[in-house]
Amino acid sequence: MTTDELYPAGRLGQVRETAGAAGLDAVLLTPGPDLRYVIGYDAKQLERLTCLAIPADGEPALFVPRLELAAAQASPAGSLGLEMIPWEETEDPFALVADLLGPVATVGLSDRMWALSVLKFRDALPGARLAPAGRALRTLRISKTPAEVAALREAGAAIDRVHARVPGWLRPGLTERAVGSVITEAILAEGHATVDFVIVGSGSNAASPHHEVSDRVLAAGDVVVVDIGGTMPSGYCSDSTRTYALGEPPAEFSAYYKVLYDAQEAACAAVRPGVTAESVDAAAREPITRAGYGAAFFHRTGHGIGLEAHEDPYIVAGNTEALEPGMAFSVEPGIYPGPHGARIEDIVVCTADGAERLNHTPRELVVVA
Ligand code: ZN
Ligand code: ZN
Ligand code: ZN
Repeated sequence: MTTDELYPAGRLGQVRETAGAAGLDAVLLTPGPDLRYVIGYDAKQLERLTCLAIPADGEPALFVPRLELAAAQASPAGSLGLEMIPWEETEDPFALVADLLGPVATVGLSDRMWALSVLKFRDALPGARLAPAGRALRTLRISKTPAEVAALREAGAAIDRVHARVPGWLRPGLTERAVGSVITEAILAEGHATVDFVIVGSGSNAASPHHEVSDRVLAAGDVVVVDIGGTMPSGYCSDSTRTYALGEPPAEFSAYYKVLYDAQEAACAAVRPGVTAESVDAAAREPITRAGYGAAFFHRTGHGIGLEAHEDPYIVAGNTEALEPGMAFSVEPGIYPGPHGARIEDIVVCTADGAERLNHTPRELVVVA
């Protein structure tokens, strides 16, 4: 996919419409995933304000520190015909944004705006009610375009290439940290721009879902949960988990791994338009609970993914939102009874009649000889 397919010029107009529909007179986006989504500009979050101002009726403008102007113009935002307003070191950029907006009753601020900027906008826009811009952006960002799905597919293939090499790096005598640093290099070598997380949970650490790495030394008979992800140059993220065994795993482990495998299959099979997010969670949870491991599966089944590694929709009990084609999320049940544990995670995209998995490395337990 090309940059203008990924970050199409029509986004600014779409945000203006959804902002109006959400009762916002304007949306203000500072560096972060919302800004990148709307204009393709991966701006640095700095003490100097960069802010895209989108009035619900009126022309949008990007305020940039003078010294960032060239970078902004060189980004995909430079070809959108968007007005860029550089501000000088001695100017007050918050006052400049307020001047552009004029009188406004309700203003949406990007969900990840620094409190520092939020408080300055509060002072610069006295009387305006401040609200999360997510109200206007959520409905757009949650359904991926074909170009976004292609970018996620590319990210999935890149992390699959790393997982395909992991068995060669798991050796008794190495620490989790040493394995983690080899994986970190591989995530970059396989095409990611940044590494977002590397989890190598061996032995009893496999029972701690968000363990990262430690100085624990891998030993024969260990199971190892490897959950890895990064961000591609496109901006889109990867995230995949596989569980490996160093030699013959404990007998109980093999029994519940089979349950986990079936649960992950069942949850992926449940994905199609119109079913609720919580019913996908239930599809994963039911076989695990039936096998007696319900209490050992103590996190939600998944999270949305796109320009952020964790975003809407969340696949969790209580989320009655219906899935739509284009929604992309993880399906990652886990069973952690201790003194070991396991998780299987794929990214899936809801299609017109089912789901497409974006990760394809074997899900059966990989026993490293
Ligand atoms: Zn997680
Ligand atoms: Zn993960
Ligand atoms: Zn995940």
